[in-house]
Amino acid sequence: MTPDIVLPDFETFAGQTYKGLDQPEEATAATQALLTGDREGEQPRIDAPGDNQVTLERGINRDGTWYRDAEVRELTGSDEEAIAAAGVGSSPYRVFETVLMRGVVAIGGEPMTRKVAGELLIGDRELLIMAIRRASFGENLEFERLPCPHCEELVDLTVPLSAIPFTHLDDPERVEFEVFLRKGATGVVRLPNGADQEAVFGIKGNPARQDSEILGRCVLRVVLADGTEIRRPPAQTLSMADRQTLLRHLADLQPGPRYGDMSFAHDACGEEVPLPISLATLFRGL
Ligand SMILES: [Zn+2]
Repeated sequence: MTPDIVLPDFETFAGQTYKGLDQPEEATAATQALLTGDREGEQPRIDAPGDNQVTLERGINRDGTWYRDAEVRELTGSDEEAIAAAGVGSSPYRVFETVLMRGVVAIGGEPMTRKVAGELLIGDRELLIMAIRRASFGENLEFERLPCPHCEELVDLTVPLSAIPFTHLDDPERVEFEVFLRKGATGVVRLPNGADQEAVFGIKGNPARQDSEILGRCVLRVVLADGTEIRRPPAQTLSMADRQTLLRHLADLQPGPRYGDMSFAHDACGEEVPLPISLATLFRGL
C-alpha cells in the first residue's frame, strides 16, 4: 500500500478548509497506545469485513420521522472498475460520489438513489464512506514506512477507523442553528447536504461564487439587531466577515468523521505528526 496522505480534502467548501477540531487529543492518545503496543514485531491483525450496518447522525426524513439506520456492502471488482472509471479525468468528488452510490445499499430500508444521497448531510455521507471502507477492508488502516516530517524516522502505524476524530450532533433532529454575526445580527442556517455539495461542485474555478452558492442555499434568514428579519438573504449582500463566520459554522457544526484532523504523537521525537486520511488511504490507493 502506498498511502496518499494529502488528497482529497473531505471538508473543503469552496477551496477553503475549515478544521472542525473535535477532541484531537483523544485520537492522538488512541494512536499513541497503538504505536507503543505494536512495537514487538507482531503481525498486523487482519479484520474480517462483514459489519454492514451503520447508524447515521441525521439520516433521512419520511413523513416527519427520521430514519438513521443504513446498510452498506463490501465493494467488489466491478465496483473498483466503475470507481476507477469515474476518476479518469475527473475530480475526487466524482470518485467519492461513485463509492457512495455503489457501496450504500439502503437508508432506513429505502434503496439508495441519487435523491436519497442528496438529502444526506455531508457528515452522514462521510460516515457512510467509512462504513463502506470497514465492510470492504476492515477496521484498521495500515501505514508502512511513513516518514516522520520532524525526525525523518520511518514509522509503521496502525490506525483504527474508530480513532479518527468524530463530531456528533447534540440533537440529531435539530435542523436549524443560530450563528452570531457582526452588529448584533443573528444568522439562522441549516447544515449542507449532498445536493448542496453537488451544486457547489458544478461551479468551476471561482471560490467566492462557490461560497455564495452554499450560503444562498443554507442561510435561511438573518435577524438584524433591531429585529428586522431578512429571509433568504442573497449571499452577495452579506459582509465578507459574516460570510466567513457563517461558512466556518457550517463546517464546524457538521457531524461525522474529521478525516483531515487525524494526527499521532511520534514517541521517538515527541512531535505531533499530522496524518490526514484521504479516500486513497481508506481504499488503498483507489
Ligand atoms: Zn518523529
